[in-house]
Amino acid sequence: MTHPLRVALIRGDGIGIDVANAAIAVVDASLARVGAPALEYDDIDAGAGYFAETGLDIEPGGEERAGEADAIFLGAIGLPAIRHEDGTEISPHLRLRDRFQLYAGVRPVKAYPNAPQRLADPRAANLDMVILRESTEGLFYSAAVHGRFVASGDEEVRETLRISRATTEKLHRFAFKLAERRKARGKSARLTCVDKANVFASMAFFRKIFDETKAEYPEIAVGYNYVDAMALDLVRKPWEFDVMVMENMFGDILSDLAGGLVGGMGMAACGEIGDHTGLFQPAHGSAPDIMGQDKANPLAAILSGAMMLDYLSDKSGDKKLEAAAELIERAVDAGFGENALRPMEFGGDMGTEAVTAELLRRVEAG
Ligand code: ATP
Ligand code: MG
Repeated sequence: MTHPLRVALIRGDGIGIDVANAAIAVVDASLARVGAPALEYDDIDAGAGYFAETGLDIEPGGEERAGEADAIFLGAIGLPAIRHEDGTEISPHLRLRDRFQLYAGVRPVKAYPNAPQRLADPRAANLDMVILRESTEGLFYSAAVHGRFVASGDEEVRETLRISRATTEKLHRFAFKLAERRKARGKSARLTCVDKANVFASMAFFRKIFDETKAEYPEIAVGYNYVDAMALDLVRKPWEFDVMVMENMFGDILSDLAGGLVGGMGMAACGEIGDHTGLFQPAHGSAPDIMGQDKANPLAAILSGAMMLDYLSDKSGDKKLEAAAELIERAVDAGFGENALRPMEFGGDMGTEAVTAELLRRVEAG
């Protein structure tokens, strides 16, 4: 891979535009600080605002250009007031997820000092874990692409839970590599397979492939948990977990639960990664209730930007990009630790611009 690395940039709607701009500013500053070449951005118009103007949810050729870039960065898409005729929201990003088979949904869950903390136990203050959510099949297989294997009627409706060997092998390998990478960075590196293998053949298959993959990574400690017990444990003793891998619907539910333990939507970063590209975006939406008011917390987007740098570092082999990602993560950590990051989302006095400026200052200072 040769520089410059290219990023397809979809700012989208509402606060998505502001937090994407914040993230790109911080990403660029971190690259400059570590002496890495700048990224090249390809702006792609998409979203509800674009749809209202043009009748299209993404500009012509936009999907193809997104696929040609080395990574995709997205702010947020959709506005409740602007919908398709059938009432569904404008969501070209879901098509991108399916088109590029972005199977690995990475959702870090990290507690920061002075950010909301739901558990009184002091061990919860150091939570640092990752939920890995399969994002193309599982119980969302029918839902993701309209009309796929759904049998409906007035007496009964059936949908399909799909666990394929090909996707599951890739997912578990991704999980073990993620655990290895965390171990190399001095974090605990336990990998828990979350399923319901005692009841569902599909889940027993999911676990069987986990066990096959485990043989390739003997240095990673593994555990197993049924999804119901996992929900209990995430509330009772989340500090015992590190990386957790699971199918789509379980991941959807448990990542919200885990996110609730450590703060608000404005802290929830997300990467969706496939074989050829990755899409990085804050887990929150366009938040029309606060848009245009400088109230949005840009940290979820900024941390998603750091995840993108990590991904691009792997993809290009350029370690400087990983250093830039670490620089951003350290700036967020230290900023909270010194009570210099006080987002309005947590009752603080700092809007989008102030949070971004504080991070830029820290990143530039190294
Ligand atoms: P989507 O369907 O696109 O996920 P949503 O309906 O779940 O959207 P969000 O846009 O994520 O809604 O917003 C949910 C709530 O969280 C809103 O009250 C919003 O103001 C708040 N919120 C979301 N993101 C942020 C942020 N970055 N900073 C502060 N508050 C936020
Ligand atoms: Mg939502």
